[in-house]
Amino acid sequence: MGFKRISIDKYIKLHLKNNPTENKVDLESRLKNALKDYQEGVKCSCGNDIWVIGSASVGNSCFTCITGESMPIDDYEIHSAIIKRENKKGQRHIDEIKPTEIHGFFDDDGYEINSDLIKKPTLCLTCIHDDDPREEPLCNMNRFDQRDNDDFKCFAFKKIEF
Ligand SMILES: [Zn+2]
Repeated sequence: MGFKRISIDKYIKLHLKNNPTENKVDLESRLKNALKDYQEGVKCSCGNDIWVIGSASVGNSCFTCITGESMPIDDYEIHSAIIKRENKKGQRHIDEIKPTEIHGFFDDDGYEINSDLIKKPTLCLTCIHDDDPREEPLCNMNRFDQRDNDDFKCFAFKKIEF
């Protein structure tokens, strides 16, 4: 049980589909304000963390105070509000970066990956694609996906001919 994670953009699309009369710009700014309040540590009057999605409609309150339910079931919460509780180490979330500044790539939770910190398997050192800037994003993604595996596999691997 718990919240289902959703990005602000996806939630706005979903919400507008269910509530066609809602004003997109208005909804977005209310969500962003609630998220900002959440991140600044604003609490519900009962002392709990606020529920960003619900707070965007009815003002800053926690899930229980808004819905009367003790636990979320099939309810959404903005991704970065859930993740904050899990305390990622200072990585930027895709929701917090201006679209014009988004490059590089992101893990499944939307956190920016510092490609310099990804270990390069020895296999890559003998591959013709190593140090090819056009291949590098794909290589990094592949390396990142397998970061916890002992045995690195790559379908794009081509051995350098000496
Ligand atoms: Zn409350």
